[in-house]
Amino acid sequence: MIAEYLEHALQFERMAAEATDPALQESLSKQARAYRKLASERAERQGLPRPPNPGAPVTRPDCKKCGTRMMLARIMPVHGRPDHDARTFDCPKCGTTETEIVKFR
Ligand SMILES: [Zn+2]
Repeated sequence: MIAEYLEHALQFERMAAEATDPALQESLSKQARAYRKLASERAERQGLPRPPNPGAPVTRPDCKKCGTRMMLARIMPVHGRPDHDARTFDCPKCGTTETEIVKFR
């Protein structure tokens, strides 16, 4: 159940990162935060360690090759580093990919 909430949160975070409309982006981030909150409340009730809190919003880097704003392709947990995400970005123009390890708490 907790994993499910976190899965939803990640989905909304990903959509928010890709949204071009600021109002839509805000509403998607809000939903992501709501799911994160649900997950941590549930974890607390079950006496589990708190799942990660939302960190900084996803910032999309510019492509190092051609300067185009990159798209967030996926967010993966980092093995052995539970407080980190590996965020993979794709350049829509030249196809360069870049992975960022982000500490989110
Ligand atoms: Zn590029």
